[in-house]
Amino acid sequence: MGSKLLSDTVWESDPELFDIIKSEKQRQRKGLEMIASENFTSTAVLNCLGSCLTNKYAEGYPGARYYGGTQCVDKIELMCQKRGLEVFNLLPEEWGVNVQPYSGSPANFAVYTALVEPHGRIMGLDLPDGGHLTHGFFTLNKKISATSIFFESMPYKVNPTTGLIDYEALLNTARLFKPKLIIAGVSCYSRYLDYKKFRDICNDVGAMLMADMAHVSGLVAAGVIPSPFEYCDIVTTTTHKTLRGPRAGVIFYRKGFKTNSKGEKLPYDYESRINQAVFPGLQGGPHENAIAAIATTFKQAKTQEFKEYAEQIVKNARRLSAGLQEKGYKVVTGGTDVHMLLLDLSSAGISGAKAEYILEEISIACNKNTIPGDKSALNPSGIRLGTPALTTRGLKENDIDQVTAFIDRALKLGKRIGEKSGPKLVDFKKAVHDSELSSEVKVLRDEVETFSEKFFIPGFEGY
Ligand SMILES: *Cc1c(COP(=O)(O)O)cnc(C)c1O
Repeated sequence: MGSKLLSDTVWESDPELFDIIKSEKQRQRKGLEMIASENFTSTAVLNCLGSCLTNKYAEGYPGARYYGGTQCVDKIELMCQKRGLEVFNLLPEEWGVNVQPYSGSPANFAVYTALVEPHGRIMGLDLPDGGHLTHGFFTLNKKISATSIFFESMPYKVNPTTGLIDYEALLNTARLFKPKLIIAGVSCYSRYLDYKKFRDICNDVGAMLMADMAHVSGLVAAGVIPSPFEYCDIVTTTTHKTLRGPRAGVIFYRKGFKTNSKGEKLPYDYESRINQAVFPGLQGGPHENAIAAIATTFKQAKTQEFKEYAEQIVKNARRLSAGLQEKGYKVVTGGTDVHMLLLDLSSAGISGAKAEYILEEISIACNKNTIPGDKSALNPSGIRLGTPALTTRGLKENDIDQVTAFIDRALKLGKRIGEKSGPKLVDFKKAVHDSELSSEVKVLRDEVETFSEKFFIPGFEGY
């Protein structure tokens, strides 16, 4: 006799929860997802995540586990590692990969734990300038990221006028601060990173170079933007952003030998240190269902279809940037080379927070963001807009023009509402719902949702 508790589907056993999942599905279908870090993963990835692999404990690494019965998950993890090297054109003699990190943040913390001693020094792009929390963010009053609690972090900045990374200032600061590790990686930056310049700076100060390509790894895999591997010691990434896989992280590290300034050949010692930091240092059992999903993501990322997808992401972002500029908006750095752009609303008559809110109200999801030179991180003057998720749903340049028109109308409407409601966000929110302009908000939302319904979402044939 089977147990109902065990065999019932979630819609049979827990309709209260299932209703919320259904609402989320509706939300994803109705709205236009422009959060630059989000995407819609494939059916194959969802199949792996929901598979029996979630049942298996496999602490350790393939061939050296602390549990029995790992013959299948060993094969999967080795397959995942092999495909990970292949998709980024890496030789197994020169690079290794750890596919166990639970997500991007733990992957980064594992690298610092492995290679930088407690209170050792690191440098990363400042969070308000487009860096990530895990690159060491702290404020005057508080150490925000654990990276800044357990390590000493010094930010580098973008030039407030151009919005581009100030490599010269980075070099000067690095010479004074003498970091052990410099991080080249961004969550909000629309131009290529100059990895060679980062390498030169690292060589100058004797630091290791880590690229955190979390946002752009899908574009790197497809070969549509420069790859960091040539210049880096370590490369980390998430697998759920442009790479379009499951929520997880991976760490690539150099193997083999490096030649020092005296011409001596020395072995890299990253492999054992990084593997030990991930397990048993920071994590327990690896999520083999996620690792299987990463493996199939890597397989997909090698296809011609994925390459075309990645090219389309960039085309769409460029079209969005050009369209918004035609309508008179300012785009930080004047455009984009990647999957996202940063819209500077400082002269558009609406704050970043209000823009985010009015766009959400018309079913376009994005996030408010600081722009270079912003005084307050709490009240930023920009929004970040990305195209990976829309491109997955099949939007092309012409469709992006329609999205641009929706955004423009929403921002103008928001400006008018703001002029009536005054500066406070709470009053603005009230006016969006309850003023003579509310009906215009609703009309716009209906148009966006009707437009959105036309586009496909993978994995949505099921639940
Ligand atoms: C998203 C991101 C991360 C963290 O990923 P999580 O999976 O959210 O922990 C790390 N670094 C960069 C640059 C990112 O954009």
